[in-house]
Amino acid sequence: MRLPSRDAQVVADVDVCVVGGGPAGLGAALAAARQGATVCLLERHGFLGGNFTAASVGAVCGLYVGTGDGGFDFVTRGVAREVADALQAAGRAVGPVPFEGTAVLLYVPWAAKRLFDHLVTAEERITLFLHALVADVVVDEGRVEAVVVATKRGPQAVRARSFVDASGDADLVAFAGGTTTTGDVRQYASMQFVLQHVGNADLSALKPAIAQYGGHLSRDGGALIPTFRPGEYIGAMTRVRAPDGSPLDVTRLDHATFGELEGRRLAEEAAAFVIEHVPGFEQAFLADTAPTLGVRETRRVGGEYVLTGDDVSGLARFPDAVAAGAWPREYHTEGRSTRYVHLPEGGYYQVPLRALRPAGLPNVWVAGRCISADTDALASVRVMGPSMALGQAAGTAAMLESRDEGAANVQASLREQGAFLGEEHA
Ligand SMILES: Cc1cc2nc3c(=O)[nH]c(=O)nc-3n(C[C@H](O)[C@H](O)[C@H](O)COP(=O)(O)OP(=O)(O)OC[C@H]3O[C@@H](n4cnc5c(N)ncnc54)[C@H](O)[C@@H]3O)c2cc1C
Repeated sequence: MRLPSRDAQVVADVDVCVVGGGPAGLGAALAAARQGATVCLLERHGFLGGNFTAASVGAVCGLYVGTGDGGFDFVTRGVAREVADALQAAGRAVGPVPFEGTAVLLYVPWAAKRLFDHLVTAEERITLFLHALVADVVVDEGRVEAVVVATKRGPQAVRARSFVDASGDADLVAFAGGTTTTGDVRQYASMQFVLQHVGNADLSALKPAIAQYGGHLSRDGGALIPTFRPGEYIGAMTRVRAPDGSPLDVTRLDHATFGELEGRRLAEEAAAFVIEHVPGFEQAFLADTAPTLGVRETRRVGGEYVLTGDDVSGLARFPDAVAAGAWPREYHTEGRSTRYVHLPEGGYYQVPLRALRPAGLPNVWVAGRCISADTDALASVRVMGPSMALGQAAGTAAMLESRDEGAANVQASLREQGAFLGEEHA
């Protein structure tokens, strides 16, 4: 069906428009605004954070790298470290907690939701629109001129000189006709859930209990993550598959709908199992599922450079590096299991700016879990520490571009902002 053309009111006209207010979009909007750009941040939900809050993931991965003496240092600094420090200072996060040879920061999703409100509204140059689903773009002579937002008043437009696609699903790039891929092998989605009124929990009993009694569960492991609020744990124990067993593609309405319903069913099943089989959970109850299904992977952008799994495992160095990452390649792709491919101890890889530039779209940058990366690189770089760092890089690049300054200054600006890009290059 061909839609009739219509007029749209322009509700903001800014230097940088950021699509999506998840970890990547937050990094981008804060960086661009703090360096002097006017910014419009568009988020389809009624709150910020993306998977950080909407999927209640409960642990920030990819913040740390081992120091070789059993300790950890930040490998993603800048906005990522600012968020970690703020949550810890408020007593709402605990870390580094050793995990899989590296470490994580455990946090309270509610606290993150409020922190993001404060961080964004503290920046006068950011115009924030919530309940703002970007549903189309206007392209003029190869450049994106505006995004079209679906609102209760019909389509409205946001015009900008430069754009950051931080939608997680590469929506902006896809609408603009850029190259995107949805791999045949991709990460399964999960529905997190919250258990409350937990007693003295014996978490070591979870895995053996699943091995003995949990053959019907959607995962053979997963985790019960303490939020450190009394008696509260986040259940990370589901694998949500499409009806034919394949990974969901939530850019399809039928898959998005099925995923939410199936995710709640699997969360209820897993919660009942924990209550029955894990000591300390006898009096617990399922308080709720996460606000939305947690989606790990859909479309990825085809960019000027494609980050590969070999780059990640080989600790690649790039002259145009804009972020560093040290998380293992973590696969939610096989059967009921999760598989980790560890990086060499204490090592980190770099991500080049070219992996944030969608091919053929001169005024668009991309950040977060839809950057230009293959499945194996994405298995590492998609987590929230690097997503915030990549957002900061993309926001900085977009800010400089909106001033007609070249990408050459991105690294210098990021260093001034306290980001860690890895060692200096000759
Ligand atoms: C169940 C689950 C568990 C995970 N566990 C961890 C973990 O323990 N630690 C960790 O670090 N990472 C974890 N991850 C991975 C991590 O959460 C994501 O990869 C990360 O959030 C990616 O950040 P992002 O900003 O690119 O995307 P997202 O977090 O997906 O954010 C995208 C944002 O854009 C918005 N948006 C999307 N489309 C539009 C549109 N068209 N218009 C307007 N807004 C739009 C969304 O609402 C969302 O707020 C997990 C992921 C899942 C799903």
